[in-house]
Amino acid sequence: MAVSHLARSIRESATLALNERAAELAARGQPVIHLGGGEPKNKVPLAAIVSSAARLTSGDVKYVPTDGTVALKQAIIRYTEENYGRVVAPDNVIVSSGAKQAIYNVLLSVVDPQDEVVILSPYWVSYPEMVRMVYGQPVIVTPEDGGFVPRLDEVEAAFSSYTKALVVNSPNNPSGAVYPSQLIAGLVELCEQRRVHLIMDDIYHRLVFDGVRPPSAYSFTDHDVDESMLIVVNGVSKLYGMTGFRVGWTIAPRDLVEVMKNVQAQTTSCPAAVSMAAAEGALTGVQSTVENLRLGIQNLRDVMLQELRTFEGVRVTPPQGTFYCLPDFRAYSNDSEELSRFLLDKALVVTVPGKEFGAEGHLRLSYCGSTKNVTEGVQRMRWALDPSAPNEITIGERRLRRDWL
Ligand code: PMP
Repeated sequence: MAVSHLARSIRESATLALNERAAELAARGQPVIHLGGGEPKNKVPLAAIVSSAARLTSGDVKYVPTDGTVALKQAIIRYTEENYGRVVAPDNVIVSSGAKQAIYNVLLSVVDPQDEVVILSPYWVSYPEMVRMVYGQPVIVTPEDGGFVPRLDEVEAAFSSYTKALVVNSPNNPSGAVYPSQLIAGLVELCEQRRVHLIMDDIYHRLVFDGVRPPSAYSFTDHDVDESMLIVVNGVSKLYGMTGFRVGWTIAPRDLVEVMKNVQAQTTSCPAAVSMAAAEGALTGVQSTVENLRLGIQNLRDVMLQELRTFEGVRVTPPQGTFYCLPDFRAYSNDSEELSRFLLDKALVVTVPGKEFGAEGHLRLSYCGSTKNVTEGVQRMRWALDPSAPNEITIGERRLRRDWL
């Protein structure tokens, strides 16, 4: 089979592969606990269901404008005004099939071969692969202090004359860190000075805890959206628990949106009409669903932290947003892939190796499932690793004895 060098070099999505492995084990009746998930378990908001059902039952499900329906774009403009304090024009908005496609489309539209894109570690697994897919070079910045938030001078030091874009994801997948306002302000200034596109992946921006609120990057620039280097990506997947609809969007200078529209027109024609109707319903319907989701996840975060505190040697930085945390497991292993495999084999718990996110020695644990999932999941992990944990456990129907410590 003749497969291109580029395609061959693209790595499997570790998180999606783990989902498949967990589903396979569950289908065989194994009592798997999934702490690797990337979606809230809530039902889709009613307003989204009603709105998409209306579109579906109309029987009018055809191609729609490439950059999104007028109604959804209007809803996004309102959302942007309310949440970012910026009034943008319809020409500044393009809807895509998920934030993932939005980011890929942005990268394809701004990166020339060999251009560099700066990525802050720990990072979402897809950024470096996407940069490579558009023939760019990912440049990773790893905070020197071993933490999850880089210093401004560390980011600046990674910039070169080839730097085309910087990707910022705060609240951050996988660490749950929210970057301080001062850092975001500095990054906006740096990117505007150096004419580097600042891609803000804001997909988790309202899933924040303890009163923390990530700033709108627009508040740090006096430039009009069309003159600014800011590109903001968002979507309904995480905030509304609507991952299956595949709707995300980009707010960007209109010249860039125009190019992205051509890219999208030649690849997917347009996002799906029924999904866009659902997203419009979610954005214009009662917003208490987001607050309920946020509160539920904050409680789960607290349960996760409480459970992890009992884990000998495991160090965790309390997450301020998302539904992930990234505890340090180096007391048990420096090889996160091996550790993750061991936990799946012995304890039937799915975790994601930190190596995938540029954080070797860590495991990403999700708390977007149920309380029982979190408590039992961490208990099983403790049983498998922590000598101070009782050496017998019941997993499913079976009583197991630990004989490897
Ligand atoms: N950015 C980040 C940081 C994510 O974690 C995800 C989903 N895992 C996405 C983007 C993609 O979201 P969507 O489902 O809208 O494509």
